[in-house]
Amino acid sequence: MKMPLLITSEKFSGENKMDEELFHVLNSKEERWQKRLEISQKERKTLISITLCLPLKYRTDQKYKELFLEFCNIYTKYCEENGVKLKNAQGLDGFDGPCIFYLSDSNAIEVKKISSKFEESEKPFRIMDIDIMDENQNPIGREEIGLPPRKCFICNNSSAACVKAKTHSKSDLEKKIKEYFLEGKEIIKNVNIFSKKY
Ligand SMILES: [Zn+2]
Repeated sequence: MKMPLLITSEKFSGENKMDEELFHVLNSKEERWQKRLEISQKERKTLISITLCLPLKYRTDQKYKELFLEFCNIYTKYCEENGVKLKNAQGLDGFDGPCIFYLSDSNAIEVKKISSKFEESEKPFRIMDIDIMDENQNPIGREEIGLPPRKCFICNNSSAACVKAKTHSKSDLEKKIKEYFLEGKEIIKNVNIFSKKY
């Protein structure tokens, strides 16, 4: 697990807007990481952190934030139906986009397994990143439960391979994001009608 970079404000002073944006994003990531540690050390329970796995402009877009919250609701129902109760929801809406934390008395490995299944249960859930930390502040990765790295946002290859080879253009990515948004809206509508599914 890579620790987020600790950066200082002097580093970007007087530089261009992109650096400033990067500075704020990294700061928000750091803030989120510290918050995770703080909650975990205090509560000593399995900690779930959910963020949006999208470019910054979508992460901070109100429409996508609303979709994110709806997906989080579906996720809590999904967990409950699989015997995992989530509690003490806390939100953090930083420069970097929204984040929701939950605590659970269930074993971290168990929660990771259910969460990974959830992420793969519907295509649009690909926009969510569900991170699990055990009661001793150890992040639980996919490899710990025997799963390969997450697939690419667009195709079936590993995400890392596509990023490295720059397989997909920015417009392909944006097209996919919009597709997921519309499909996500449909899922929410169906959950409301057939609420038994989740
Ligand atoms: Zn790909």
